[in-house]
Amino acid sequence: MNHSEKAKCIMLFSDKEANIYDYPDAAGAFRSGYRFVDVDESELIKLPYGSYMFTLPDRFPVSSTGDGFTCIKETPDGDPINAVSAFLASGYLRTKLPAYEKNSGSVTLPLWAYSGVVLKDDEFYVPAMRIDEDPRSDPHLHEDHKGLNRGIKKIKELFPENRLVNQLSICSTEYNCLCARNFFMGRYECPVPTSPACNADCIGCLSYQEEEAGFCQSQFRLEFAPTPDEISQVIIHHMERVEYGVASFGQGCEGEPLLRGNDLADAIIKVREKTDRGTINLNTNGSRPDIVKNLISSGLDSIRVSLNSPTPKYYTSYHRPVSYSYNDVMKTIETALEKGIFVSINLFFMPGFTDSMSEVESLVRFLDKYPVSMIQTRNMNIDPDYYFDKTGFTDEDSIGIVNLIDMLREKYPKLRLGYYNPPLKK
Ligand code: SF4
Repeated sequence: MNHSEKAKCIMLFSDKEANIYDYPDAAGAFRSGYRFVDVDESELIKLPYGSYMFTLPDRFPVSSTGDGFTCIKETPDGDPINAVSAFLASGYLRTKLPAYEKNSGSVTLPLWAYSGVVLKDDEFYVPAMRIDEDPRSDPHLHEDHKGLNRGIKKIKELFPENRLVNQLSICSTEYNCLCARNFFMGRYECPVPTSPACNADCIGCLSYQEEEAGFCQSQFRLEFAPTPDEISQVIIHHMERVEYGVASFGQGCEGEPLLRGNDLADAIIKVREKTDRGTINLNTNGSRPDIVKNLISSGLDSIRVSLNSPTPKYYTSYHRPVSYSYNDVMKTIETALEKGIFVSINLFFMPGFTDSMSEVESLVRFLDKYPVSMIQTRNMNIDPDYYFDKTGFTDEDSIGIVNLIDMLREKYPKLRLGYYNPPLKK
């Protein structure tokens, strides 16, 4: 960017009341890993509809000076300021983090995916790309609250004793879960949470956080174990009324579904006795290859294994497996590939980490050994500094998320990149 000109991409900041302003003549900047970077306009898109803007407490925005970066702690009038971030609507992959310096004693940020944001031509722009055109979680589709309430009422009347239906009604209203809303609206993917327990202790777990973490979980974990009848009733209802429906075990409001292996197998068999419609999918930490084998034999159609990294040390330091290891997860992926079902990895993307030289090499080694069908490129919902600190990631060169995506598309043309579990019977 030519800094003699008036800044085109302007730095944003917020006041103590969280009002957001542009800082005249302060050029915006972003971050990748530990490094501040200039704004690359070719990476910018308008802030997608339904995205959020956040003020970042105890963090000062950083501006680009053309030959370096400077931290700005107050307005020209001397008022204290905070940095600003965007949280992107679903289906968009961020490519850069917000640029800020932390004040001493700063709090850890809660579990959101913080993206850089600048002002350009009087509009908010973000470094991001639409990575999945599937509209299932597009905010404009989730504004019919009357329709949702009608759907909840109708299905609760149909299945008054089904505790899972009641749980999903809480998820779709109190937790704003778009997946649960789709179940009541009779479209796309239906979530099927089943497990109150987990055998991992992920640093960024959305359903369970220890008090000392300094931030809370995003939603409360399921407190009961639905029966195979309750589970299959929900799935059958969804599959019978949704063409190309998907039903997925393993949701943000539960632990690990593989710990309910036998009951899930019973439920799948009950569903397939009634209908062969739709795709039954398992979102999992992949800890138990033996149970996965049994679920596939029972009729499971696809599997999505969550990974923060294909590198054992980073995997272990983030997921903190309790009763399994990284090798068990690889065995699960190998088993599912051998069985010929659709295999995705749910790879949590963190700019500067996922595209770091060592992680890119690790990902290529992984994909060469495990030719999965899809990578779900998910923005990682966590404070970047907390993540780097907890996983022990140190500064290194990176290729950029845009270049990583281009490389994957070129090197693995059959590999699908996206954000959602695809319906297979299309
Ligand atoms: S596997 Fe899922 S439920 Fe278990 S700790 Fe990790 S994020 Fe939480």
